[in-house]
Amino acid sequence: MPHRIWHLQLTCPQPLCTGSMTKAGLYRTIRRVLEIDGWYLMATEYLECRRCKKKVGGWSQGIIRQLSPTYSCQFPAVLTYKLSCDMRVVAQLRSRTLGNSANRLYNSLREQHSDTWMRRAILYLGICEQFRALCSARQIPPPPQMPPVPSPVWLLTVYGYDVLTRLDEYKARITSTFGSILKMDSTKKVTKKLAGAASDTAAWVTNVGNEHGQVLISVLTCSESAEGLSTMAAGLMRRYRLAGEWEKLVVRLDIWHLMRRFASGVTTESHELYPTFMRQLSHCIFEVDPDDARRLTEAKRPQLEGKHGMVGLTDAAVIRRISREEWRLHCRRRTRGPEESAILIQELLDTFGGPAGRDTLDIPLLDARRIEDIWSTQKTHLSCIQDPPGVLLYTQTGRPSTSRRSWLMDW
Ligand SMILES: [Zn+2]
Repeated sequence: MPHRIWHLQLTCPQPLCTGSMTKAGLYRTIRRVLEIDGWYLMATEYLECRRCKKKVGGWSQGIIRQLSPTYSCQFPAVLTYKLSCDMRVVAQLRSRTLGNSANRLYNSLREQHSDTWMRRAILYLGICEQFRALCSARQIPPPPQMPPVPSPVWLLTVYGYDVLTRLDEYKARITSTFGSILKMDSTKKVTKKLAGAASDTAAWVTNVGNEHGQVLISVLTCSESAEGLSTMAAGLMRRYRLAGEWEKLVVRLDIWHLMRRFASGVTTESHELYPTFMRQLSHCIFEVDPDDARRLTEAKRPQLEGKHGMVGLTDAAVIRRISREEWRLHCRRRTRGPEESAILIQELLDTFGGPAGRDTLDIPLLDARRIEDIWSTQKTHLSCIQDPPGVLLYTQTGRPSTSRRSWLMDW
């Protein structure tokens, strides 16, 4: 109630009106706000313009926008059409780190809501019990149902509203950081969701992001061809050049894309040797950081000696006892360099091109002609996938769930 409680002078949010606002009682509607462990109710004042007589609620954007940060920062929630969401819940959505999805927040909210609701139900029943002891045995109504936690989709919608209200701030932050590693990627996932008149108007969404996870530009195109994207690239280059940053950029090809190109040379992705082939291919491109490997071996040795009494093992014997999970968890990976990768990939293709590349029904994994074409063009791109000196572009962001996804990497 900025006018009633803080006595702030507010002007009419109607365009072209400069009337001042005056008290018009309390706003008739009360809002239900989602909190971490329950709900609370929010009320506001009703304000009326002295000039045009239009009325507006104290929580409308037109009013909140007029408040100085001292007051506006006290506004506790993001309001959507029906329900509202407390800032503490929104804050959980903002830190969208690995595995921190709307689904996960939904589950954690549900757990905390149920926990609090249960405590309150116990309290209620306890008090009813006391009443029953005092008066004659009366029927008591059961505790009310727990109001359901809104869906993950709604939580994402709220996050969208929150981003919209601070869009200018975000833009300013992005243009001031820029970033020195850019990544461009296209997806069809988003355009598939276009509905109504907009459906089928675009096939691809291409995003360019930096190493801070900020999206610098996002465009919709009908195809993934260079034609549609060259305008975007030119604009981005201009932005960087104006800031004097362009010369510092290095251009790299996403290894995932290079691997996908190889994958298009197989007869079928359901071939039993496909996961092995892709894993080996990844091995041809990446190696474990030798310092990390040394440290892991050093750490594993006393563990084996203490727990299993295996004293006097050679380094090789210790390394053999390190699980794949432990390698993944403790060792960074880096690219091997184009020369070494070229030799290893050639060997891999030779091996899989021979009898070792056939399944029990004698069906080859590789389509010999296609894979040859692919290899002859991708050879030239091996230098485009190397980590820039001193920078490890690839870190594993997820645990391997199925063999086919296990080598999907991102920042
Ligand atoms: Zn007015």
